[in-house]
Amino acid sequence: MTDVIEQLESIEGVVARKDELLSLHTTFGVGGPCDLMLWVSSRTALKQVLQLSKSHSIPVTLLGKGSNVLVRDGGIDGVVIRLADDFAAIEIRDNHIRAGGGASLAEVVSKATSSGIGGLDFLAGIPGTVGGAVITNAGSGDTWLSHRALEVSLLTDDLREVELEEGDVGFGYRTSGIGEGLVVLEVVLAGSFSSVEEARQGVEEHLSRRRTTQPAGESTAGCVFKNPPGNVAGRMIDEIGMKGFNIGGARISTVHANWIVNTGGGTAGEILNLIGEIRQRVREHYGTDLDLEIRVLGRN
Ligand SMILES: Cc1cc2nc3c(=O)[nH]c(=O)nc-3n(C[C@H](O)[C@H](O)[C@H](O)COP(=O)(O)OP(=O)(O)OC[C@H]3O[C@@H](n4cnc5c(N)ncnc54)[C@H](O)[C@@H]3O)c2cc1C
Repeated sequence: MTDVIEQLESIEGVVARKDELLSLHTTFGVGGPCDLMLWVSSRTALKQVLQLSKSHSIPVTLLGKGSNVLVRDGGIDGVVIRLADDFAAIEIRDNHIRAGGGASLAEVVSKATSSGIGGLDFLAGIPGTVGGAVITNAGSGDTWLSHRALEVSLLTDDLREVELEEGDVGFGYRTSGIGEGLVVLEVVLAGSFSSVEEARQGVEEHLSRRRTTQPAGESTAGCVFKNPPGNVAGRMIDEIGMKGFNIGGARISTVHANWIVNTGGGTAGEILNLIGEIRQRVREHYGTDLDLEIRVLGRN
């Protein structure tokens, strides 16, 4: 492993850190170390990293802003990749926005807005990258990223770059159908023509609604569970009186019952125990199994 790590570290366009604590890179603020974390700045470097890792059977995990994941306390085996530099590019032509997998959603919304492109306000306030948003089909209310996506560029596990039209991706409620081992390189979104003022107003209204319904400034990953058909997970958890319930440093938000917050010093184990407790009580009360919206990664 030491040899391969040295080779990975020496690839041009890569910044590497060994034994990096993933709690520093997840919005829950939990997660043990990975063997090697790499910030990869170009497609060429990415292909070299993936090729080398594959030839040595080293597992690879992509991480965006870590805002929809719960990394276990034992960390992640192998290499964790974050897309940087070239992958953060955002290009606007007419009402189309071409954004790299490592671009921040906040920046996509801000650039579109200041170019007089509306229709993306539903992404405002979601603290992730474009890659993570494609994988999770991020959205608010009834509007999801897939509703504005025209095409998605992926790197396949045999290192081919492919472009899929939106209808061929396999998007669904908080899922993209994009399998493990594929990397989201880029997405093209279609906004609507608008005035800068109108676009800004749309974003402001959306952000102000979020401020009244969601906790601010907490260590959290947003909604933990998907809404089951015909019901709302947060309402169900609230109705059984679990708002504010905690296990160690993991607490159900008092503002939004589908959000778990790390109140400080919480562990992934405590968050997982709290998730288990919520699931059990919801099952007992409603006979419903709640599915996770967040993704649990890593080893115990
Ligand atoms: C305060 C807060 C509010 C939130 N509000 C919302 C909301 O309103 N709506 C919503 O949908 N979500 C919301 N979320 C969840 C989260 O922000 C979104 O799911 C976001 O799109 C995840 O992006 P990320 O870059 O953080 O992905 P990560 O959490 O880093 O990764 C998510 C998944 O995508 C994979 N991945 C990441 N990048 C790539 C890539 N380039 N190629 C392949 N795989 C990749 C990861 O391996 C992981 O499986 C919220 C989270 C927080 C903390």
